Amino acid sequence: MNTPESEPEHVDFIRKIINDDISSGKNDGKVVTRFPPEPNGYLHIGHAKSICLNFGIAAENNGVCHLRFDDTNPEKEDTEYVESIMDDVRWLGFDWGSNLFYASDYFEQLYDWAVQLIKAGKAYVCDLTFDEVREYRGGWNKEGKDSPYRDRSVEENLDLFARMRAGEFKDGEKSLRAKIDMNSSNMNLRDPAMYRIRHQHHHRTGDTWCIYPNYDWAHGQSDSLEGITHSICTLEFEDHRPLYDWYVESLGIHHPQQIEFARLNVTHTLTSKRKLLQLVEGGHVSGWDDPRMPTISGLRRRGYPADAVRDFCAHTGVTKFNGMTELALLELYVRGSLNKTASRAMAILDPLKVVIENYPDDESEMRQAHNNPEDENAGIREMPFGRELYIERADFMEDAPKKFFRLTVGREVRLKNAFFLKCNEVIKDDAGEIIELRCTYDPETSGGKAPDGRKVKGTIHWVSAKHAVDAEVRMYDVLFPEEKAGSAPEGVDWLETLNPSSLIVKNAKVEPSLVGAEVGSSYQFERTGYFCVDKDSSVDSLVFNQTVGLKSGYKPPEKKA
Ligand code: ATP
Ligand code: MG
Repeated sequence: MNTPESEPEHVDFIRKIINDDISSGKNDGKVVTRFPPEPNGYLHIGHAKSICLNFGIAAENNGVCHLRFDDTNPEKEDTEYVESIMDDVRWLGFDWGSNLFYASDYFEQLYDWAVQLIKAGKAYVCDLTFDEVREYRGGWNKEGKDSPYRDRSVEENLDLFARMRAGEFKDGEKSLRAKIDMNSSNMNLRDPAMYRIRHQHHHRTGDTWCIYPNYDWAHGQSDSLEGITHSICTLEFEDHRPLYDWYVESLGIHHPQQIEFARLNVTHTLTSKRKLLQLVEGGHVSGWDDPRMPTISGLRRRGYPADAVRDFCAHTGVTKFNGMTELALLELYVRGSLNKTASRAMAILDPLKVVIENYPDDESEMRQAHNNPEDENAGIREMPFGRELYIERADFMEDAPKKFFRLTVGREVRLKNAFFLKCNEVIKDDAGEIIELRCTYDPETSGGKAPDGRKVKGTIHWVSAKHAVDAEVRMYDVLFPEEKAGSAPEGVDWLETLNPSSLIVKNAKVEPSLVGAEVGSSYQFERTGYFCVDKDSSVDSLVFNQTVGLKSGYKPPEKKA
C-alpha cells in the first residue's frame, strides 16, 4: 500500500538515489537532468526511454531537463538531425523550455579548461599516430606503455596545443591527452585523448575550429557548466565514470553525479543509429521515418500514439541489467491507446464482389454505424448500402468446414450494421478464380436479428461497391524476423537477415466517409486492425499505414521494479 510516508511501490534505483539526495539537501534539493543526443541520426525507441526518464524525473521533482546536442563530431552531424530530434522530443510530449544547449557553445570554455589541465601538468600533446596510441595503450591483461611525449614541459605543451588550434598540423598528426595512468586497470584512464585534429566544417561553429573535443572530455564538463545534478546515461558509460569524475575533480568544478541504467532493447528492432543509417543509406527502407523503422518519426508515421510509447517506456522499468523487451508489449500499449481513441471504419483489404440479386438495381440506403463503441461521445455515422458490395475474400470459403462461421454457399451470415446475407452461387473466371458471389439478403433483418428467431454464427464487414473509395493500404511486418535483430551468423551480412516481405501493399476499398481523412489520424478498420493516414495521402488518393493488428495472444510479464 502507498501511504504518503512510504515510497510508491515501484520506485526505481535512480529515483531512489534522487529522492535521497533531495532529502539530504544535496544540490540544495534541486534536480536538473539532461537528454544529450548526438545529432548524427534520428532518435529511436531507446532514446524515447531516455527522454521519458530524464524529463520524467525532472517533472516529478519540480526540476528541469535540458536538451543538449552533443555536437562534437562534425563529420557525422547535421542540422537536419537537430531539427528532427527537437520535433520528436516535442511529439513525445516533453518541453525543454528555454533550456536548449549545444556542446559546441562550450568549445571556448573547454579549450580554456584544457589549458588549465596542461598548466597543472595533467595533460600533454602527443605525436603518436592513432595506431601507435592503441599499441601503447595495451589491453585488459597487457600493460600500457608511456608515450615518449608524455613528459613534455608545460611550456612546450602550451605552445603545441595553441598551434594545434591555429591549424598548423594535419588531421591526426597530434592529439591532446590527459595524463592519468598508463597502467590503470580501467582502459579509459590510460591517458585518454581529449582533443583530436579534424579540419572539418561544423554545422554550427563553421570553420572556427580544427580541433574537436572527445566525448568524455566534452560531456562531463558540459554537464557541469549547466549545473546538471544527475547525469543519467546507459550502462556502457559505467567504465567512463572514473574519467568523468577525474576531469571535474581535476578542474575543481561542479560535480554532477553520473548514474547508469540498462539500455532498452526491443525484439525484432534495432537501437543502433549506425545500423539504422545503413538501412536508410542502402535504400532498404524509404527513409528515417519509414513506418517499419524503430525511429520515433517512424513510429509516429506508423500511427503509434505518443502516450502508448511513454507508457511502454515507463512499464519497462529502470534496471542495471541489459535485457530484451518484447515488441509485442509495445504493440499492446499501442492497441490499448488506439482502442479508446480511434474511430471505426470499414475497409476491405482483399475485395471480393457480392451481388445481392433481390436488392433493386437503382436503389441504395444509408445504414448507421457507431464511430467508437468505447466512446459514448464519438457519435454515429452513415454508410451507404446497395445491391453490390465488397467483402473480404477471406470471409468466403467454397467448401467450408462446419466450424467456418463466415460466408459459404447455402449459409447465412450477418453484415455488420445491416442485414442477413445468404450466398447462392459462386462465379469464377476461366482460370477458376472466384470473382463474384451471387447472394440474397433478408430485408426483415434490418436490426441485426431475424423476426423468426433464426440465428447466424458470424458477422462480417462490407462496403458498398458503388460508393466505396480506392485506397492504398500498406501492411507491415517486422524488419527482422529474428528476435535479436541485426545479428547474423558467421560470414553473413546482417543486412541479409532483413525480412523480404516487411511491406505488402493492398489495393483496398474503403467506406466513403474516409475521403478527406487527415494525415496522421487513426482508424480501427473493423475486424482488421488499426490504420493511420499516411503523409503520402492526398485529397484524391488515400494511403493508409497498418499500425497494429487487432489482437495478439501476448500477456505482459510482471512489471520490473
Ligand atoms: P549509438 O546508437 O550510435 O550508440 P546513442 O544511441 O548512444 O548512439 P546518443 O545520441 O549519444 O546516441 O544518445 C543520447 C542519449 O540516449 C544517451 O544518453 C544515451 O545513453 C541514450 N540512449 C541511447 N540509446 C538508448 C537505449 N537503447 N536505451 C536507453 N537509452 C538510450
Ligand atoms: Mg552515444
